[in-house]
Amino acid sequence: MTEVRKLIVIGGGPAGYTAALYAARADLEPLVIEGFQWGGQLMITSDVENYPGYADGVLGPEMMQDFRRQAGRFGAEFLTDDVTRVDFSERPFRLWVGDDEYRAEAVVIATGASARQLGIESERALHGRGVTYCATCDAAFYRQKEVLVVGGGDSAMEEALFLTRFASKVTILHRRNDFRASQIMLNRARAHEKIDFVTPVVVEEVLGVDEGRVTGVRVRDVETGEERELSADGLFVAIGHDPNTSLFLEQLDHDSAGYLVTKPHTTETNVPGVFAAGDVQDHVYRQAITAAGSGSMAALDAERFLAEREGHVFAAATAPRPEAETVEAA
Ligand code: NAP
Repeated sequence: MTEVRKLIVIGGGPAGYTAALYAARADLEPLVIEGFQWGGQLMITSDVENYPGYADGVLGPEMMQDFRRQAGRFGAEFLTDDVTRVDFSERPFRLWVGDDEYRAEAVVIATGASARQLGIESERALHGRGVTYCATCDAAFYRQKEVLVVGGGDSAMEEALFLTRFASKVTILHRRNDFRASQIMLNRARAHEKIDFVTPVVVEEVLGVDEGRVTGVRVRDVETGEERELSADGLFVAIGHDPNTSLFLEQLDHDSAGYLVTKPHTTETNVPGVFAAGDVQDHVYRQAITAAGSGSMAALDAERFLAEREGHVFAAATAPRPEAETVEAA
């Protein structure tokens, strides 16, 4: 007979480990099925300078080790493998890792999102050495440097505009002459003196593999086939993100891009007892700090859900507070 856990957290990034930390401290004895490649997007980030508490900055992988260790300190258990199937149609919920079945009264999904990649070998080789997927994280390393941004959506415009605060020159490379970005964002980028556009081009190669750092790109004009090289110190790939939700799409409400939908001001999905936290349900903020924040919310929501089922809701940290209700009513 498969053991029934109170809580299983799926995903080992800032949201998952924070959910595990809170849940462990609430005696929910969580099992974190953290993924074969645990740590999420921070494992491919170098310096993190915007996470409060790390005044001198921290390496992304080191920060994830800290998160994991902190959850483990309070008894969270980890399984370094990928969930391959779930069944939320009956309770306790059923999850599988290959042929091994796990059961839980509540589940927090924190499987994150992945930045889309161009899919070329030199991009992978120079990842973290000039190739990046997050201007908010890395723009400050490009003070007075020249950078390239790939993409034609709002993210690309936003990243390019943000980069102008640091870089001396920002060139947007897009594969079409038309843009998916909203007119207002496009206009802002077009009006900016530091931003240039090169279209319609695709990046054939990121240059600098021998130097160990990005030195530029080789692009191909989609209309003429002509190739040329552009020099730059950094390449920001901003061609969208995909939420890691393929396991859940048939069972949970999601938007057209596949992000899980949670009820406003909560982490509740459409299945009571299943909660979603972090980038898997957030395509707007996508920060480690916001993911961690929603991870804590998911654990509190799960704690309340479990307490309610066991008939002692007022023990839960998120139990209604009479004073709050008085304020709301006033
Ligand atoms: P997006 O709208 O899907 O745009 C992705 C862009 O990348 C498109 O221009 C696409 O080109 C290009 N692209 C995709 N795959 C590519 C590849 N392999 N090689 C080269 N180019 C590729 O994604 P997004 O910009 O991340 O935006 C996602 C959502 O968030 C949108 O709804 C957006 O409005 C919203 N958002 C809003 C804001 C804001 O309002 N401040 C900021 C960021 C994001 P094609 O156009 O040719 O397909």
